[in-house]
Parts: sequence; C-alpha cells; structure tokens
Amino acid sequence: MNFIPTNAIDAMRLARAEEKANAIIAEGYSFKFYSELEIVTVCKPKQPYASYFINLSSVELLPLLPLGCSCPSFQKSGAGYCKHTLAFERLQEEEANQLKNAPTEEEEWGAAWYSERVALRA
Ligand SMILES: [Zn+2]
Repeated sequence: MNFIPTNAIDAMRLARAEEKANAIIAEGYSFKFYSELEIVTVCKPKQPYASYFINLSSVELLPLLPLGCSCPSFQKSGAGYCKHTLAFERLQEEEANQLKNAPTEEEEWGAAWYSERVALRA
C-alpha cells in the first residue's frame, strides 16, 4: 500500500508516522505474518504476546480483528495506515530486496567451485 498525500497536513502526518515506524523497528518490535489467516502479529520488544494485530484479509472480525491494524491510532485516524502497518511494509520491502539481491543457487555453487580451484592452486 502506498499512500500519496494530497495536502500538506496529510504529508506531515504520513512523514511523522514513517518516523515512528522507523523508531519501532529500531526498538526491536517484531512482526510475524500468518499467511493462511492474512494476519500480522505486532509484538513489542521482549513481549511474548502480540500487542496489536494487523488484519490484511478482507474479513472483519470485530472487535478483536477489525480491518487494518487494531491499534487505536489506526482505528481512529481513518488514514489507512499507522506506524505498525508502515513498519511492517518497510520490513517486507527490505526482505523482498534482500531476496532479489541474493545469489542464485548456481552462483553460489559457482563461487564455491571457484574458491576450491583457487585453493588447490595455492
Ligand atoms: Zn497500528
């Protein structure tokens, strides 16, 4: 989801939420995506239970799993995002980029083969 602000206040609101998203990632919040349910659990650092749930499905299960994030900020603002959803999206993008840049199996095999050959010649 990409939010394109249409005025200065929305732009500031989004920028502030993105700052908060970066802060909670740095704090060590963890996000676990349950693909079969399309639910993300949001856990604060060192907490074994979820503080909030992000319901990415189209099924609203009130009051426990409303659409989007269950945090008060998401539910109140009506903006369609909060620091939790933005943080989760950023982490997803980073993971996708890492996978995209990771060497393929052939490249890894080739690198291992090459370093063995170099070692044999030394
Ligand atoms: Zn939230």
